[in-house]
Amino acid sequence: MGRLQGKVALVTGAASNPGLGYATACRLAAEGARLVVTDMDADGAGLCAAAIRGAGGEALHLRQDVVSEDDWAHAIAETEKTFGRLDILVNNAGIHLTKNVDDTTPREFQRQLDVNLMGTFLGVKTALPLLRRSGGGSIVNLSSIAGTLGISGLSAYAAAKGGVRSMTKTIAIEGAPDNIRCNSIHPGMIWTNMMMQASVSAEAVKDALMAAIPLGRMGEPDDIANAVLFLASDESRYITGIELYVDGGMWAQ
Ligand code: NAD
Repeated sequence: MGRLQGKVALVTGAASNPGLGYATACRLAAEGARLVVTDMDADGAGLCAAAIRGAGGEALHLRQDVVSEDDWAHAIAETEKTFGRLDILVNNAGIHLTKNVDDTTPREFQRQLDVNLMGTFLGVKTALPLLRRSGGGSIVNLSSIAGTLGISGLSAYAAAKGGVRSMTKTIAIEGAPDNIRCNSIHPGMIWTNMMMQASVSAEAVKDALMAAIPLGRMGEPDDIANAVLFLASDESRYITGIELYVDGGMWAQ
């Protein structure tokens, strides 16, 4: 019997492979959850759903822009229509920008806030009524070590991820009377398409970053998926409002 048997989970940003949403969706499904996987990239979300079904699981995929209120309303309605409930919401979709403040335009700054912070807010706001009707649940928001640490070049991203961090704690307090838990995960450097597209592809930068990771390696998507699984499952039933660092020790330094 899987650790999430009988539960329904929605994971955003699940198209990217290697990516944290894709790995998380597959991990939750392997533990028995029925999955709704969404992304702006509908074909990629479809591949994630196909992988889940290929492994014997159940999955629905949807095209969804997390910045769109209409897309959120549609995603939650389809979740209820297809599976009748929602127990786990993973706000994973995100975008990254590496630019110093001098070079960041107000439009770029706003876009980071829109996708990374507003997208998470809309997800929680739209899902709350169905989570309540399902008797409670677990919300996991993807923040970042950049949500608490100063890292050169990440001002806009850090503002958004810092917002996710503190908003998560408020949601935890507001959701507690309805048995809705809410926690944030703070990945360090994990090998995904996002990281491959960022400046870490340059060998020199990569070496410098590796020196900053006490465990001596970049993380793998499954390192995050396993942490989400724990926070999504009843094993963490007395844990809410925490920030969990999954970063090989970077934050501890
Ligand atoms: P990724 O770029 O590999 O995947 C992100 C996915 O989000 C993509 O499939 C993309 O299509 C989707 N997406 C982007 N904008 C969207 C939108 N408006 N609506 C719907 N989907 C959208 O990224 P990843 O590395 O898998 O990161 C996943 C999450 O983890 C992000 O929130 C990211 O900020 C966070 N994170 C990642 C790392 C890391 O090292 N990889 C570190 C810290 C935090």
